[in-house]
Amino acid sequence: MKVNTKFIKEVKEYGAFDISACFNCGNCTAICPLSKEDSSFPRKMIRYAQIGAEEKIRSSLEPWMCYYCGECSDTCPRQAYPGEFMMSLRRYLISKYDVSGISKFLYKFPWLQIFITVSIFLVSLFFFLNYQGDFQELAAKIEYAFPVYVSFAIAGYLFMMYKNVILNNYKKWFLSFNFTNIKETIIHGLTQKNFLSCSQDNLRWISHILVMSGYTLTLIISNLHLLQPLKKQYSFTNILSPLVLYATLSILSGGMIMMTRRATKKNQSSKFSHPTDWLFVIMLFLIGVSTLITFLSNIFYGPNSKIVEILYKINIAIEISWIIIIVPFTKWIHIFFRPAAIYFYNLKKEHNLA
Ligand code: SF4
Ligand code: SF4
Repeated sequence: MKVNTKFIKEVKEYGAFDISACFNCGNCTAICPLSKEDSSFPRKMIRYAQIGAEEKIRSSLEPWMCYYCGECSDTCPRQAYPGEFMMSLRRYLISKYDVSGISKFLYKFPWLQIFITVSIFLVSLFFFLNYQGDFQELAAKIEYAFPVYVSFAIAGYLFMMYKNVILNNYKKWFLSFNFTNIKETIIHGLTQKNFLSCSQDNLRWISHILVMSGYTLTLIISNLHLLQPLKKQYSFTNILSPLVLYATLSILSGGMIMMTRRATKKNQSSKFSHPTDWLFVIMLFLIGVSTLITFLSNIFYGPNSKIVEILYKINIAIEISWIIIIVPFTKWIHIFFRPAAIYFYNLKKEHNLA
């Protein structure tokens, strides 16, 4: 096989690791709590990268099996940061599975991503503030359109993952309808339980569960257009109240934990933050804050208040920039890749695909 030395250079654009220092001692794989005999990492991935086996990496599930506890980086005698390398591979794979090429562009030029996100927010807000029609109706149309847009993106990614992992390798369509596999895929997707197996750091798992459950509930509330702050008067006894409060407070508390960890860099998993990681968590936080304030303002000032109208317009403008840029092209999409990797891993075992 011809060694492709440019490959490491390319992956390095997605993170701060130094696997050229790796001398293949194998400590990282030995210490990794998630690495298995038939799905061994991170050393195997490092070896592929060192020889530039791009196709092998593109068809690997291992990058998604890593939950970045950072134990491998802690024990690496060469400071090669294998945990950060695995994280970089996930960013790299997202950019390769994204047929539009937008993800690659946004990862390579993170400041441009911030600029585009802020610009979309400002243009949307300007338009909303000058909108003369029924804004509640307009918001409904926007919120109903979100799931359609995101579903296309998810379907595209999952197909590309299937193509790279299964179709390109085995030249045949394989599927798994095995109940245990489907159940395991759903459980992993909902609980992210590998975060717990990955390390003793329960706070990290808690922050992910808070953010994920809070955001999923926010999605349900907004995409079904259940929250209509310009049309209805809410109160703390309203049936929607506990749902909105749980959703927003979970996002805020989970988001606070994530931001504090990234800022203090005390843990290996938050030592190296890509600018897109910061944008992700800040935007999520802003969605939580703006939804909560809009809801509370409705309770205190009523649906006809100008302040509620402005806050709601800010909230929808934040959601637009979040959905258009952050959701389909960066970290958010991980939540689909991880359970998909579990499904494909079990599918391969079921059909004896090496
Ligand atoms: S522990 Fe470090 S040096 Fe050893 S194989 Fe892993 S990355 Fe390479
Ligand atoms: S970061 Fe944790 S899960 Fe990922 S490869 Fe290293 S030890 Fe394994």
